[in-house]
Amino acid sequence: MIAENLQILEEKISEICRNNGRSRSDLTLIGISKMNPVSAILDAFKAGVIHFGENKAQEFQNKAPDVTENVVWHFVGHLQTNKVKYVIKYADYIHSVDSVKLVHEIDKRAGKIDRIPKVLLELNTSGEESKFGLSRDDEILEVAESCKNSGNLELVGLMTMAPYTEDTEIVRKTFRGLRDKKDWLNKKGYGLTELSMGMTNDYDIAIEEGATMLRIGTAIFGERDYSKNGDE
Ligand SMILES: *Cc1c(COP(=O)(O)O)cnc(C)c1O
Repeated sequence: MIAENLQILEEKISEICRNNGRSRSDLTLIGISKMNPVSAILDAFKAGVIHFGENKAQEFQNKAPDVTENVVWHFVGHLQTNKVKYVIKYADYIHSVDSVKLVHEIDKRAGKIDRIPKVLLELNTSGEESKFGLSRDDEILEVAESCKNSGNLELVGLMTMAPYTEDTEIVRKTFRGLRDKKDWLNKKGYGLTELSMGMTNDYDIAIEEGATMLRIGTAIFGERDYSKNGDE
């Protein structure tokens, strides 16, 4: 099932790229494997997925050591400072950096084990109060600056989540907002390359608005069974 899902997804992504003058090779597809077993990750890997993402520190810590294939790991969920120790050993990318405190903790722990994770700042560009992420310009700059001053991590881009809504204009505005912030930071010399935006329900709009990293779970792994171990 995963291989078929992936084939259908890849066809759709390619078509959207064609229609928007974008190249498939400019996009990284991250299979969000949360709540799916390691066996599903291995199935997806065999079908061609190389990048995987998890959103819970402990679940990530439990699963990552069992995946011995050469995958690239992304941590995409909200990260509390006291849980950095669970993700630092395996995460190649951390998408959810939203405070100076978190930057310092990642920098410290990465330094101890000689890793240099790539990080993205999570921004709240939708204005929803329920969402995590930085929204004020001065806060964004403060956290970006602290990344610049940290030797054991590399700031490569920005991440956002769109509201769950049928209103595509709201979704588009959220993604456009992220792209604007990237342009704004790059004018200040940050040299960011990544825009992590777009999930199963809105990746088409994300590609149209310049996404470079798609975080897709359901369209690859199928519906998650929340009755088993609830999300958040
Ligand atoms: C679950 C999750 C996704 C993927 O969601 P789907 O709708 O299943 O594609 C992407 N990003 C984050 C941060 C998530 O937690």
